Amino acid sequence: MITKQKGTYDIAGVEGKKREYVNSIIRGICEKYNYDYIETPVFEATELFHRGVGETSDLVSKETYDFTDRGGRNITLRPEGTAGVVRYFIENKLYGNMTEPIKVFYNEKMYRYERPQSGRNREFTQFGAEFIGSDDILADLDIISLAYQTYTLLGLDVVIKINSLGDTESRNNYRKALIEYFTPHINNLCEDCKERLNKNPLRILDCKVDASSDILNNAPKTIDYLNKESLDRYNKLKEYLDLLEIPYEEDQKLVRGLDYYNHVVFEIYADIPNVGHLALGGGGRYNGLIKELDGPEVPAVGFAMGYDRTMLALSEANINIPINDSIDVYIMYVSDDEKETAAYITQNLRLNGFICETDYLNKGLKGEFKSADRLKAKYLIILNDKDLESNEVNVKDNTTKEEEKVNINDLVEYLDMHL
Ligand code: AMP
Repeated sequence: MITKQKGTYDIAGVEGKKREYVNSIIRGICEKYNYDYIETPVFEATELFHRGVGETSDLVSKETYDFTDRGGRNITLRPEGTAGVVRYFIENKLYGNMTEPIKVFYNEKMYRYERPQSGRNREFTQFGAEFIGSDDILADLDIISLAYQTYTLLGLDVVIKINSLGDTESRNNYRKALIEYFTPHINNLCEDCKERLNKNPLRILDCKVDASSDILNNAPKTIDYLNKESLDRYNKLKEYLDLLEIPYEEDQKLVRGLDYYNHVVFEIYADIPNVGHLALGGGGRYNGLIKELDGPEVPAVGFAMGYDRTMLALSEANINIPINDSIDVYIMYVSDDEKETAAYITQNLRLNGFICETDYLNKGLKGEFKSADRLKAKYLIILNDKDLESNEVNVKDNTTKEEEKVNINDLVEYLDMHL
């Protein structure tokens, strides 16, 4: 038997219906915030992620699915969504005539070669949004608010942790301070962190191996290295968040591993019974990325949330997801003679907006009644040759069990009135 690959999963049945619902919430809220749907390819040139995410990140150095295709190209399966969106933006020269910012959202599969465990897979889905072309604080707010309100609409209580890395000057000063601070401790850090020290010391703060060590806990804090402009901006953002009643906690250790962040960075958590403190997603401003990928200097901000972890959180927090597991009408036929009419009525009712099923297995009436109950049909339409002579069918309310003869031409009107 061929089984699915480690770290992948199938989505079907009730789980599929739940995801349809979550997708509809995401689509609905992105529409209100005026983000357009975008899909970028699953595979891209390896270089895009190496330059876009950064060579020193665990994501690129340890977790990507890289391969050479039959034409000898170096290809990587997308591990995150931002780089692809930025590649699309640059390749299509959308910066040429930017009268409005570009606001897009995606809801796509990502691939990371990680050790699979609960909430961590090798193929997983991320919902994310990117806001390209504004350095204004309102754009930061748009992104944080979209992320927060999505969870609120889904019924999840989340905590937003925020921090600021400041502008390039502040970030560079902070970087220097970190190198000075970590250099004497270098021998007590893990092998990866030794590498990170000069390449990107901010990543040391993200290290999973050294996470609980005092060296990391006592490291310099970003806030002390923000220049006046960056600090004012950060304070202003917090005022806006208060104004919109978006709750947040400041976390001065939050830097996020990616090289291209500056100013605001944030992460979203939920405290879930039996699971604990679950990271659902995060984001931040990445003014440097578009230039890094050979585009002009265009500011941008975005976030990505783990879709699968969101589903896990909804389920563990016992949040009810409304799913429709019933049908409106089950169309039954007594013999082959009524099959054509059954096919006609089924299609006609579907085209008029009713959820309909019929018997595809020639079960006969007894089996059809059972199927109708299994499918939780609200109404049954029973066809027999005698009634059809006068163009009528039997319509049965499957709850009250009351039956009525209805002319085929009046079926839509009848069901509209009763359903
Ligand atoms: P990141 O792009 O690493 O900031 O991840 C953003 C969010 O995606 C995380 O907070 C998780 O919710 C989710 N995520 C990241 N990696 C995985 C994975 N391997 N499996 C499932 N969800 C993931």
